[in-house]
Formats: sequence, C-alpha cells, structure tokens
Amino acid sequence: MKSQAAPITIVNAGYRSTNYWVVSAGESRSLVDIGWPGTFGIMKANLSRMDIPLRQIRYALATHYHIDHAGLAEEFKRAGVPLLVLDVQVDAIPVMKTWTKPWDNYVEITAEGNIVISFAESRPLLARIGISGEILHTPGHSDHCVSLLLDDGSVFTGDLPPEAYAYDNPVALASWEMLRRRGATIVYPAHGPVRVIDPDPEQS
Ligand SMILES: [Zn+2]
Repeated sequence: MKSQAAPITIVNAGYRSTNYWVVSAGESRSLVDIGWPGTFGIMKANLSRMDIPLRQIRYALATHYHIDHAGLAEEFKRAGVPLLVLDVQVDAIPVMKTWTKPWDNYVEITAEGNIVISFAESRPLLARIGISGEILHTPGHSDHCVSLLLDDGSVFTGDLPPEAYAYDNPVALASWEMLRRRGATIVYPAHGPVRVIDPDPEQS
C-alpha cells in the first residue's frame, strides 16, 4: 500500500533580488536555484532561519547555469546536497566560470557527484522523494533552461521571460504554451513575485 503523501510546501530562501525556492514534501526537500557565488553563509543563514537543515535537501536543481542561479552548487554538493543536472544543461556548467571574477569567490562546479538525468527520468526521481511533478525543457532565456512543474500546477520557471514581455521571443512563448498545456497555473519565477500564469492568448 502506498503511504499517504505529505502535502507540498514552498518557501523562498532568496536574497539579492533572486528567489531560491525550497519545495518540500514534509522533511524531504528540493532547492530550486542555488544562490549567488560566494554567498553560502547568507544562504545557510536563511535556510536555518526557516528551520531547514541542509541534510533534508535531497537535491539542488538549477533552472539554468547563470551565476545567480547556480553559484553555490559546488558548496552545496560538498555539504552533502547532490546536484541534479538535466542532460541539456551539462555543457553550460563549465561556461559559468567565464562570467565570474576572482572576487566573486565562485567555487567551480565539478562533474563529480552530479546526478545527470533526462527529462523523462525526472518524474520517477521526484516521486521517490515524495514530490509529484516533473522537470521540463523551457528554453527562451537560454537554450538550457528548465522548469519544475508540480502536479498541483505550481511551476518554477527561473528566468523564462513573462509572456507579456516575450512577444519577440517565439521560443519563450512556445515554452509558456507547453507549460499551460501541461497544467501550470501558479508561476514561481526566480526574480519577482509569485503570480498566476498569464491567460492563454488564444482564449482571450
Ligand atoms: Zn537570473
């Protein structure tokens, strides 16, 4: 018999205008977007203020490998939090270093210990930690952007430009169309407030 699933909770451990979402099924948690370089102390303080021990974070997922989204991935990994990487993201990881300066104190992400999966593998992997949902390819800001879509309609979209600003970005518009078709209703972006997904332009 399947045990009763814990309800999903979502909190924001963000700072410096960036949201770092902690998605939890009880004490089984995932972190969506992984801090600015050189700020592990701030991140740890925020998590501890919210009573989230690092050991309860089962995976860290970057929506994409830009410095405000994956800056602490290596530090988290060394602290015991595995880095979940989609196969389309692998090649973007080493490029991050080129956008950092020595004084950013960026700790370069190594391949060691990374858990690289396909999109199809995301649902069963998340199910094992009590989270019903999947990770989807949502290009539009970068080609390797991904979103976490929960079965309750919550979607973590990273820097996917809002549809109202994406009229000249057909790739982003296609990602929104796909998310809406898959049941996305509430958008948790990496910057700015949570919002209801824009109405389907075809229906309005
Ligand atoms: Zn960003």
